[in-house]
Amino acid sequence: MLRTGLFLFFSIICTADAAVPSVKVLIAKSLNNVVVEGMDLQKTVKDSRRSKQYSGRKSLAFNCGSRKTLGSNKNSILVASLSSPTGLISWGRHKYQGELQLLTAGTNERCDLVNSIPLEAYITTLLAKEMHGSWPVEALKAQAVAARTYAYERLKKSHTGKLYDLESSEKDQVSGTFFDATENTLKASKDTEGEILIGPSGKISPAFFHSKCGGKTLRPDQVWGGVEEGYRSVNCTFCKKTGLKDWNGKIQNKKLVNMVDQVLKKYYSDTVTDHNLKLMPDSLHNSEIRLYAGDRLHIIKKSYLRNTVGRDVLPSNNFIMTAKNNEFKVEGQGYGHGVGMCQLGALELAKRGYDYKQILSFYFPRHRIMTAYRQ
Ligand SMILES: [Zn+2]
Repeated sequence: MLRTGLFLFFSIICTADAAVPSVKVLIAKSLNNVVVEGMDLQKTVKDSRRSKQYSGRKSLAFNCGSRKTLGSNKNSILVASLSSPTGLISWGRHKYQGELQLLTAGTNERCDLVNSIPLEAYITTLLAKEMHGSWPVEALKAQAVAARTYAYERLKKSHTGKLYDLESSEKDQVSGTFFDATENTLKASKDTEGEILIGPSGKISPAFFHSKCGGKTLRPDQVWGGVEEGYRSVNCTFCKKTGLKDWNGKIQNKKLVNMVDQVLKKYYSDTVTDHNLKLMPDSLHNSEIRLYAGDRLHIIKKSYLRNTVGRDVLPSNNFIMTAKNNEFKVEGQGYGHGVGMCQLGALELAKRGYDYKQILSFYFPRHRIMTAYRQ
């Protein structure tokens, strides 16, 4: 049950002054060839600082397997920037707003492609991918503020010379293309323009979100180890009836030894020295499992186990492990890392009539909204 009083302090702090910033999003990696198309294309070749304008509709092809195209520099560098006065440019079947930038992909004779796009346009396309373009506007507005905060924090953190701010992938957040924007995503972005979350000290902290918590959200330190201010684990029953049902699976002793060994090597500079595993009692909301390998106790974060074995085996970090004979059983709830806003919970709250500030204050109870910029 939500307490109305919880939301009263969640007012918006207005300190907006700057114009809408642009964010550089890595949209594709290790390409052999890149063909971009658009009206009256403008191409700027960065190393020689030459610029060329083409008239009418034009396709430009870049052969990334050729050192002639990429030059001899083995570090990733900006090869060319391409834009159109129409504001739209195509790569294959996808249409993008802003500018497309071609980078060399490190030592590979391949290209990476970056979309430099105004942050608000980025949010309108992202909402359809991270949620759904037809979801209630208040859920989309909550997602817009969280996703904008994530991107803005990365933008502010980026140091000079970095060629992009974030990736369009589950590593950061998944953005879409021009045609992914819907009436609802445009409204959600416009109504929250420039709004971001700040922590109790006024610092911009990354706002995380995930598909379905399954009953309780997690703090960043429970999953990744790093502490981010203001986060709390909150009980969420709102996602229970939607999305992936509770899941379970079995892991044989031999396989678990292998999994634990990989985790120990990757995260703890250790290794399994005895294949006789004994699991200590676990509970659903323990963020770590405790097990003995012979007479040595290992305490392992569940999220490290999930990162190592993959989402097919462990869809969420919210699981309990039990041992029976020579087999281990995992039973879990939810989908995703579990930190911050539960998207299916936000959907249900919006359906029940809660607005985006109430949704955000439920999942980020110690954060506040600040307007970072406004046109
Ligand atoms: Zn939830």
